[in-house]
Amino acid sequence: MGSRGTRSTSQERRSSGADRADQRGADGRPALSTGPELGPMTLVGQSCPIHNRRGSLSLVPRDENMELSFSTEMDTRIYGRSPGQFQDSSQATPIQRALRSFSIPLERLHIMKGHMIEDMCKGLCRQTHAQAKVRMLPTYIASIPNGTEKGNFLVVELCQNQVRILLVILYGDGNMSPHMVYKIFDMPEGMRQGEGEALFDFIAQCLSKFLAETTTSEIKETTTLPLGFVFPFSCLQTRLDKAELLSWSKGFSCSGVIGKDVVQLLQSAISKQELHHVEVVAVMNDTVGTMMTCSMEGRPCEVAVVADKGSNCCFMAESYLVETADETSGRMCVNTEWGCFGDDGILNDVFTPYDERVDEESSNPGEKRFEKMVGTLYMGEIVRHALVALTAEKALFTGTDVAVLKQKGVFKMQHVLDIINNEDGITEVKKILESVGLQPSERDCGRVQQICRAVMGRAATLHATGLAAILSYMCQTRDLETLTVNVGVEGELYTGYPRFEEILLSVSRLLAPECMPTLLPSRDGSGRGAAMVAAVALRLAAQRRDVDEVLAPLRLSRADLENVQALMRQEMDRGLCKETNPTASVRMLPTYVTHTPDGTERGDFLALDLGGTNFRVLVVRVTEEGITMASEIYIIPATIMQGTGEALFDHILDCIIDFQMKQNLVTQILPLGFTFSFPCQQVGLDKALLLTWTKGFNASGCVGKDVVQLLRDAAKRKQHLGMQVVALVNDTVGTMMACGYDDPKCEIGLIVGTGTNACYMEEMRNVGTVDGDQGRMCINMEWGAFGDNGCLDHLFTHFDRVVDETTINPGKQRFEKLISGMYLGEIVRQILMVMVEKQLLFKGRPCPKLQTRNIFPTKFLSTIELNGLALRQIRAILNELELDASFEDSVLMREVCQAVSLRAAQLCAAGLAAVVEKMRENRGLDQLSVTIGVDGTLYKLHPCFSDNLKKTLKDLAPNCNVTFLLSEDGSGKGAALVAAVADRAANAAK
Ligand code: ADP
Repeated sequence: MGSRGTRSTSQERRSSGADRADQRGADGRPALSTGPELGPMTLVGQSCPIHNRRGSLSLVPRDENMELSFSTEMDTRIYGRSPGQFQDSSQATPIQRALRSFSIPLERLHIMKGHMIEDMCKGLCRQTHAQAKVRMLPTYIASIPNGTEKGNFLVVELCQNQVRILLVILYGDGNMSPHMVYKIFDMPEGMRQGEGEALFDFIAQCLSKFLAETTTSEIKETTTLPLGFVFPFSCLQTRLDKAELLSWSKGFSCSGVIGKDVVQLLQSAISKQELHHVEVVAVMNDTVGTMMTCSMEGRPCEVAVVADKGSNCCFMAESYLVETADETSGRMCVNTEWGCFGDDGILNDVFTPYDERVDEESSNPGEKRFEKMVGTLYMGEIVRHALVALTAEKALFTGTDVAVLKQKGVFKMQHVLDIINNEDGITEVKKILESVGLQPSERDCGRVQQICRAVMGRAATLHATGLAAILSYMCQTRDLETLTVNVGVEGELYTGYPRFEEILLSVSRLLAPECMPTLLPSRDGSGRGAAMVAAVALRLAAQRRDVDEVLAPLRLSRADLENVQALMRQEMDRGLCKETNPTASVRMLPTYVTHTPDGTERGDFLALDLGGTNFRVLVVRVTEEGITMASEIYIIPATIMQGTGEALFDHILDCIIDFQMKQNLVTQILPLGFTFSFPCQQVGLDKALLLTWTKGFNASGCVGKDVVQLLRDAAKRKQHLGMQVVALVNDTVGTMMACGYDDPKCEIGLIVGTGTNACYMEEMRNVGTVDGDQGRMCINMEWGAFGDNGCLDHLFTHFDRVVDETTINPGKQRFEKLISGMYLGEIVRQILMVMVEKQLLFKGRPCPKLQTRNIFPTKFLSTIELNGLALRQIRAILNELELDASFEDSVLMREVCQAVSLRAAQLCAAGLAAVVEKMRENRGLDQLSVTIGVDGTLYKLHPCFSDNLKKTLKDLAPNCNVTFLLSEDGSGKGAALVAAVADRAANAAK
């Protein structure tokens, strides 16, 4: 965290602070006055608790020994600490003591900020929410305006004594120049304390009048007029258009409303007026309205502070932290309801006796303690009580009639503002006090002015403390080192008190030096914001429909999956049957592996793994204690890959010989298992005809030949006798065998990496392509080709078809192309391109980079779908692709990735369901317990793939109890184990 800004301030202003070196707290340590007088000080290094990403508390060290000072326009002594809480020097005059009581040392503000963050965390957490004083209410506003909103919107704003109705016309021009018409209706006396129904009826009548008088026929004829409702009370919101009133405040106490949905109440009142085309689409509190009002194109506003009669703040929080709402993607605006901060007594030490008096005389003693120190509703009363006390101490108005001070409410906020805003002289102050009914001396005027300034300064400072808590919290939870953010501000305190902005900024910078807020004044109150919310809601609803339409073909129903399972089963049967095998899309190749390991295998085995750029030779030692392995990687030069078959196999032999020498294995004849990951027609465990080369290999004279024989021939040429090739294995089989060694129930192998494939132990009696009925044989399904006969065409979306067409083998490996790592990123890219075209992403800005093939690799899906990953990181990925994504774009992107990876996992599960169900039937069991050995980076690294796969499989094959076991080095260890099992079987036969 940096403190650059504050340090330079201290340099510039140090001289002005020097002459106030005596301005210290009573304990001798420098104090920060919360009033306008801010003296020189040293901030002591301190830690403040911050909510971390997982929702627990951690300590964030603060900079040590920051020094700074503030200039001041006043010549009075700095105030120390309040009589009650911070020991006062006995020489202080009553005035000094009173002034000090309003000043809160910086250290205390830091602590307060920490408490505020703790309370915020409490409010957001599901378990502690109910007890939290800072309620942190979700607003279901997950988007800020992006400037494309347009249309006609109505707003109803319920204010202190009035109802304001607005018509806002947005032109989709960046919201720069909305057209607004509004009308204010005064509420009849007593309505605020009357029946709830009467209040809502009145609002609807105002609306009806407004529409009759104001709107053009064009608007009247609009089929629906969406309405945003600004309802500035504490509500429990469960949707954007559903909010139950929790409690009234601000002098309202209408009956029959608490616990009810205020949207419904308003909507039914509107219906009574027969305004059937008016639809309440969003309800929000005034703070949220302010944030939205301040959010303009190019300068999104993510925090709002309302410093008015009451006080409140809202901000955009990471949704996954808002546990009380079921939204985990993106951000949601949270209404902090920070007015109740301190209701648990945590602010008692900074409450002055005057605050206590105000609280006692209020309609809700003990509640809204923070608000009562900062809300303008209470400023006049705090001042009055201070004056009452000082008069009693004979420090003010001596010898004059002060009876008027006993009258509650005699000092209005406007008086306080007028008093402090008269910098030029005290004549005006005198007039104001006289107008109230006092007879002040000149000295009284000066002192009253000081008290007023102290009260107002404290209110600004406390707002800054709350704001600092919010900003630090945002910075931390977004994983940022520094936070630059726009803060919308609104309210009487902000507009009426000239120093509010300066104090808000300077004190919040002190308390949260890592954050750089820019204040944006709200000119149109919350009304325009409410129209924006309604507009955004409509825009999002329309966008939602479009997004659903694009993604619908990728979403598979249970029936779809059952159908895939049945088709797979059908193709498996066709592949196993000798007659239908040639036309089956699932080849069901016999592997001649008839047993899985039983744990009694022993000995040293060689294994070869050929199938990628690297060639590996391994020695696998199987002992009673377990398996140990040593291996060496050898490069196969491109010239050899594409030279003659002889040269290739000679090279392989050279590598084997080199390896055996290095490992001191030259004197033995070791059984060798060969993992050969190219398409082969296997005719025996150690006999496999190469069908075709792939992956850059093209050695001549090999296709159609027995690969094992080619290796043996090379050994002969090299006169190498140290090995005996006993088995050729496909990597899926290797995976099954490797896991089978650890778990005897492992009778299925699955790969989900670049491609996908599966194998399993089938009954010999069902394998029509191999003679014999006894026992079992592992069948290499080659299921990637499932659907190549067109049986899955109905599942192929436009995106899948485009991806297929651009591959080197169009129309082939169709199942694989819906599932595996080589294709998922490409499918996502195709969807994103369509979404850009449909203006659902990047605000429809063209995105040429997305046209590049393979620009979006499958590993991005893993990163983007990682739960709780900060949107900033998603944006960073997108920025790498030169995509300027908003956070909404990032959320949508995540949804696309989720749809594609979920479908892949579900399809894979449907395939497996066919396999396990067939095995269960084969064995005549009600319940099958089986383990699947799995390999492949997509399965292993994607954050949701394996869970989705397991969940779907459980659903589709409820009678099979399936365990998944991750394979480690299936192609090395597995190949050796195939050799070991064959060796064991051969020994047993002897
Ligand atoms: P192979 O199947 O070729 O033996 P892997 O099992 O390592 O190799 O799978 C490689 C594939 O895994 C690549 O196609 C790539 O798309 C995908 N992949 C790589 N990293 C990730 C990741 N973090 N999440 C999901 N898929 C990944």
